[in-house]
Amino acid sequence: MQNQANRVAVVGGGIMGVTLAYKLAQRGLRVTVYERGDNLGGLASYMLYDGVRMDRFYHTILSSDMSMQTLIEESGVKDRLHFTATKQGFYDNGHIYPFNTPVDFLLFPPLNLFQRFRLGLQVIFAQFETDWEKMDTVPVEDWLVRISGRGVFNKVWKPLLRAKFDSTAENVPATYIWSRLRRMMGTREGVTSKEMMCYLENGYYTLIEALAQKCEALGVTFHLRAPIEEIVIEAGRAVGVRVGGQVEAYDAVISTLASPILSGLIPNAPADFRALLSKQQYLGVMCPMLILKKSLMPYYVLNITDESIPFTAVVETTNLIDPKHVKGYHIAYLPKYIAPDNDMANWPDEQVKAEWMKHFRRMFPDYDEANIIEFIVQRAKYVEPIRPMGTRHEIPPVQTPVDRLYMGNTVMIYPELGNGEAVTRFAIRLAEQVLATVPEWQNAERVS
Ligand SMILES: Cc1cc2nc3c(=O)[nH]c(=O)nc-3n(C[C@H](O)[C@H](O)[C@H](O)COP(=O)(O)OP(=O)(O)OC[C@H]3O[C@@H](n4cnc5c(N)ncnc54)[C@H](O)[C@@H]3O)c2cc1C
Repeated sequence: MQNQANRVAVVGGGIMGVTLAYKLAQRGLRVTVYERGDNLGGLASYMLYDGVRMDRFYHTILSSDMSMQTLIEESGVKDRLHFTATKQGFYDNGHIYPFNTPVDFLLFPPLNLFQRFRLGLQVIFAQFETDWEKMDTVPVEDWLVRISGRGVFNKVWKPLLRAKFDSTAENVPATYIWSRLRRMMGTREGVTSKEMMCYLENGYYTLIEALAQKCEALGVTFHLRAPIEEIVIEAGRAVGVRVGGQVEAYDAVISTLASPILSGLIPNAPADFRALLSKQQYLGVMCPMLILKKSLMPYYVLNITDESIPFTAVVETTNLIDPKHVKGYHIAYLPKYIAPDNDMANWPDEQVKAEWMKHFRRMFPDYDEANIIEFIVQRAKYVEPIRPMGTRHEIPPVQTPVDRLYMGNTVMIYPELGNGEAVTRFAIRLAEQVLATVPEWQNAERVS
């Protein structure tokens, strides 16, 4: 048990901030969480539609996501977690192909037999590769072409890279696809190769809400609609936060914000550290969400290889979520990850809708548009950190150069991908690292 007098401010109430608050409060720290938004959750928050909570962005939990499942169990909402075997498909050259079983794979028409074999080899190869630091300096294209061949690269990997990284794809290290292949294989169930995914009734927020209640029982205070204006630093030490024009004093401050946001909140931190944070770039996302009367397709995800289509996948979450948990609606998302240099980020909603619908009609010519009840454009600016090849030394440390200012965000979970599992695992490690320094704070208090 730590000294009850240690007061800690956690800045940001996404899944990272809430998990961190829970872990610190369990060990006796007095934690206050400041969240800018109207509710907790950040990227994993929700919107209310017809009285039903729906994820703003599609969120699934994989059957191999053990950190998430442990938190779900500890929060008492395990009975609201459902496992489903989902299907995926590929949209290529005007056709939709299933891509689930070994038979689908063997018959996948866009590739010839030899190419299919090489694609399978790539997936297997990734499971045996363990030296990710070596791969950090290998361009993803070189790594993929070496094993899959140029034909498979052009047909499968290139469109998938474009989908995830937009114009930044060329400078991406091999670690990203390696990480993704390993995560993907973690969800496969033995020889049936059925992908197992899970969802929480009413979305990810069900966990966040339950965890926040646990936190409150442990004495955590949450402030919503409370944007931090400055992390106050005096004589090289974080001493509090400024919010609503008032300074609140703390023994330590932990930021879970995206690096450039944090950079703007610490005018008194060393200039080189602020510069390191502000130069970190992120992909944003434009993610129209369609609320439908009727299902669109049998797949959870339809990957799109056609580069003339602006969105890069169709994700029909109600092929995972039982529609009875969302009042019988069907929900589909049409995401597009956006590089910092892509002007699409500034498109007004009407322009997005016109452009997206043009291609939607081409892909689903038989779908009666009268079934589309809503087309809601969701957006976020800081989604996936861009980590160009060979720059892992630029990842900031948990203990910043400012005494008692700690940080954690998705930049720092590299080479893992930004997802709830990696974020919660990181938050738990971050809590341990902070807790290990608490005796130093106490010693410093005694000396002063
Ligand atoms: C389209 C999409 C699909 C995804 N799919 C999945 C999926 O299927 N499975 C999965 O596990 N993950 C998925 N993710 C990723 C997952 O949402 C993120 O990894 C996770 O939510 C990141 O949590 P975080 O707490 O680190 O960051 P954030 O959620 O960004 O939280 C940061 C918080 O800080 C707050 N904040 C910002 N500035 C201030 C300030 N000045 N003062 C106070 N608060 C501030 C923000 O409002 C926000 O709430 C998806 C994300 C997107 C966008």
